[in-house]
Amino acid sequence: MERYTEGCLVCGAEIVYSDQPERRECFYCGQAGDTNAACQAGHYVCDTCHAEPGFAFISQQALAYQNTDPVDLATQIMRDKTINMHGPEHHFIVVSALLASYRNAGGEIDLPSALHVAFSRASSVPGGACGFWGSCGAGVSTGIFISVVTGATPLSEQEWSLANLMTSQSLNTICQHGGPRCCKRNTWLAITQAIDYVEEHLNLSMIHSEKTICEFSSRNQQCRKARCLFHPEHLEA
Ligand SMILES: [Zn+2]
Ligand SMILES: [Zn+2]
Repeated sequence: MERYTEGCLVCGAEIVYSDQPERRECFYCGQAGDTNAACQAGHYVCDTCHAEPGFAFISQQALAYQNTDPVDLATQIMRDKTINMHGPEHHFIVVSALLASYRNAGGEIDLPSALHVAFSRASSVPGGACGFWGSCGAGVSTGIFISVVTGATPLSEQEWSLANLMTSQSLNTICQHGGPRCCKRNTWLAITQAIDYVEEHLNLSMIHSEKTICEFSSRNQQCRKARCLFHPEHLEA
């Protein structure tokens, strides 16, 4: 996604400042805000999208997505050249793909707001939490997803249990597939677990992708290859 570095991030045009703030929707994430600054073409970019290109890109993909297959959406996002082979951006990819698909399947959420909340939480889970904390960020992000859609807080009862149970189930699946870490594998595993979980506990159906075949293996020096569920050789075996 090209971003201009001067003037409007979206189109490069000059920014026009108004005396009175106007209500506009962020070009990238859709969040409405009162602003005195927009370009000549009317583009407005919120502070989060301005500071965090990864947030802007992933949110934009999530908002534009029309289907209910979160593995498919996550994989589409991963193909962008701005997404690293591994890295904590995958934590936000997990929760964004789930939120978009959940909304498209009929879940009642305000997606732009949900993405902002999810980003502030997911981006505070550092890369390497899998090995250092014993809590893979992809798994934690499924708990963030359930927390956001159920409105859980530390004082909730049922929602509190639902969010923590979600994370535990994702981590349970992730650990059974063995290390070393792979942010692609763990993203797909966590999302797949969340689809089943939402069906069972929130009575809402999202689509399971057709068999996912990894297209990123050649970029992963620590790939488990045939020992990974998603590797082409594993599927042929
Ligand atoms: Zn513009
Ligand atoms: Zn924004």
